[in-house]
Amino acid sequence: MNYEAVIGLEIHCQLKTKTKIFCSDPYEFGAPANTLAGPVTLGLPGCLPVLNEKVLEMAIMAGLALNCNIARITKFDRKHYFYPDLPKGYQISQYDRPYATNGYVEVKKPDNQTIKVRIHRIHMEEDAGKLLHSSYGGETVSFVDLNRAGVPLLEIVTEPDLRSSEDAWYFLQTLRGIIRALGISEANMEEGSLRCDANVSVRKPGGPLGTRVEIKNLNSFKAVRNAIDYEIERQISVLESGGTIIQSTVLWDADRKETRLMRTKEDAEDYRYFPEPDLPVFEISPELVESIKNKMPELPDQKRDRYIKEYHLPEYDATVLSREMEIAHYFEETVKYSGDPKKSSNWVKDEVLGIINKRDISITQFECTPKRLGTIIKLLNEGKITQRIAKQVFEHVYEENLDPEEVIEKYGYKPVDSSNLKEIVDKIFEKFPEQVQQILNGKDKVKGFLVGQIMKETRGQAPPQEVNKLIDEKIQSLKK
Ligand code: ADP
Ligand code: MG
Repeated sequence: MNYEAVIGLEIHCQLKTKTKIFCSDPYEFGAPANTLAGPVTLGLPGCLPVLNEKVLEMAIMAGLALNCNIARITKFDRKHYFYPDLPKGYQISQYDRPYATNGYVEVKKPDNQTIKVRIHRIHMEEDAGKLLHSSYGGETVSFVDLNRAGVPLLEIVTEPDLRSSEDAWYFLQTLRGIIRALGISEANMEEGSLRCDANVSVRKPGGPLGTRVEIKNLNSFKAVRNAIDYEIERQISVLESGGTIIQSTVLWDADRKETRLMRTKEDAEDYRYFPEPDLPVFEISPELVESIKNKMPELPDQKRDRYIKEYHLPEYDATVLSREMEIAHYFEETVKYSGDPKKSSNWVKDEVLGIINKRDISITQFECTPKRLGTIIKLLNEGKITQRIAKQVFEHVYEENLDPEEVIEKYGYKPVDSSNLKEIVDKIFEKFPEQVQQILNGKDKVKGFLVGQIMKETRGQAPPQEVNKLIDEKIQSLKK
């Protein structure tokens, strides 16, 4: 029997503000433990939270970018839980009046298929601190670092619109691209500024939704894919052997590649939500929304459309180059120096991305900077180097961290000019009279042999079009 997977994601995104969501404690990743925790963070009696204006602004930006309705009236609520890393004993979150609802994201897959993922809601909330479990003096102990407590988060909840781990992966990539383009978060899964919980169920196609299992602790793109695939398989085998799925929350163990039960179903009522009395219900004015709309940066989709229109790139190339802000920036800078969008696109897509992925570095760390790559392409277009030499120059540039001009000087990649080339063509014609005769007799294929000899003679530096042209001219003149 075939099953269909149904997946919905809950994503937490840490906002890049200078201070926390409800107080003026600064936040910096990696600061010494418990140095960024003032009275509000510590939950001292009598301290009152005040909403950070910047958080609201960034939140609205995200809401607009994800095509959500921005609520006119919104409020905060207390979510109760035993939080050893949140001293108040409750988290300030939003329950029944989230600030943004009913959005969607269009996800372009490499096969040019588009999937539309609906956004159920987005709300603002505070992060908890960090617990560190360790041993001390032979005993198992836990430490708490409250620096992160009170850092602003957006929780983005999708509708269960995804049908495979691959869809989830592309959705997250797209979402990360949008968030980074907005400049509101580092959105880095490995560093925890983008966190994702995956809700997974399976069903017979077209049937009612199955019972879902929520997977937590997914801290890389790979983990998201592996965990979802594992859970789909597990649920199918439970159902096939006559069992039932129990609604539960599980933890992904990336080392053992399996999920572990954390708790069975918890419901909203377990959290004893109630309106936060210290923060009044407030209104988001249409003027504020409008002013934020007017200062939104260009989003990946808009970039993509611009690349297609302005640069005449194929749809797929435009998608790949626009999805990540840093890659888009690299590409556009390269075009500035090369003056050739199509060739720049090919080089970035086929050469640069492959190398940085293999080396697992960011494009901003790549030694062949846009200026260097743009220069290589320009030299190529000017006929100063051939395609083959361009590849070699490119390799030397990033391996030795040199400018293209320096590489050309160092390795003696001298441009072959036409007068020079003409002599070489004459020489090769003299050296291989038999082959020349064959061509004169109509065996056109033999031309390739002569081209090869000329390339060899010039160490691959002759422009092939020029070589072909010279050979044709010489054959014509011999025919007369
Ligand atoms: P809760 O608020 O209790 O966590 P929600 O109904 O808000 O539950 O759903 C949370 C997430 O689970 C959402 O991303 C939603 O898309 C997803 N989800 C809901 N039902 C299913 C299901 N049957 N299968 C997979 N995902 C689901
Ligand atoms: Mg939930």
